[in-house]
Amino acid sequence: MEKRAPIDLGKRIHLIDGFDLGVPGRTGTYVIEEEQLTLVETGPSMSVPRILEGLKDLSLDVKDVRYIILTHIHLDHAGGAGLLLKECPQAEVIVHPRGRRHMADPSRLIEGARAVYGDDFDRLFDPIVPIPDEKLIIKEDDGALEIGPDCTLSFLDTPGHAKHHIGIYDPVSKGVFTGDTAGIRYHQIEGVTFYLPSTSPNQFDPEAMKQSIERMKQLELERVYFGHFGMSEEPEAAFDQVVSWIPDFLSAAEEAIEREEGVKGIKERLQHKIYTYLKGYSIEDDHPVYEVINLDIEVCAMGLADYFHKQRG
Ligand SMILES: [Zn+2]
Repeated sequence: MEKRAPIDLGKRIHLIDGFDLGVPGRTGTYVIEEEQLTLVETGPSMSVPRILEGLKDLSLDVKDVRYIILTHIHLDHAGGAGLLLKECPQAEVIVHPRGRRHMADPSRLIEGARAVYGDDFDRLFDPIVPIPDEKLIIKEDDGALEIGPDCTLSFLDTPGHAKHHIGIYDPVSKGVFTGDTAGIRYHQIEGVTFYLPSTSPNQFDPEAMKQSIERMKQLELERVYFGHFGMSEEPEAAFDQVVSWIPDFLSAAEEAIEREEGVKGIKERLQHKIYTYLKGYSIEDDHPVYEVINLDIEVCAMGLADYFHKQRG
């Protein structure tokens, strides 16, 4: 197992790389060292050993974890929560109201993920351990959670990527944990800040996404903590770039659907737009960032197809 020390982000926050898909820098778990030890996101079950190892590296006892906050219940972000919870006798799991019953009974979640990931499901996500209902706490829009004498986290309902999505504002670092609502940060390209929206199936809603990002923009922000991956200290630039790509994603899908090119056509059109854009920054077609971009836009294309299918009834 490739080893990576937890990343110190300052302001009592570390990021443990979860190596989703076996790839570094895909997903991670944020550790907030407050009186009540708090984790944001778990990644899939395959990341749980990484989390245990990372906490050890930070000289923290997993048994002291008090809260596990899930930005949303997609399995690459929350699939490992039940497995991790077995190690954390004191912990409660915080989730959007729409996520609660699926974490308690993951059968529909598993079914949905099998539809997207097919035969890769077992390798990527198994096992999905149910979370006992009494361990689940829901946070509505404007909800709050005191995790230390000087830190009360606040919650925002942030649909767009998924309807079961929350954003979490940390007043101490003036940062927001955006999960996937504010897109993906491609840190693999040095010197170029590059962000794309994440339009996964099956609750992508472009208007809601823009509104959620706009709401987060109104917070007093110095940082954004992405689900994929890491922190940006340029909230404004990151948000604006993601929003600016949304119409391109929609038009790529519309053009492909018009010509009956299917999901494959949507993907190719997205690819073309992104490759062309990055060429402008001298990023060649064989740059390693495309390994992750191509994985992401495959799923984005499925979400776009699903969105237009529903739009057109
Ligand atoms: Zn994700």
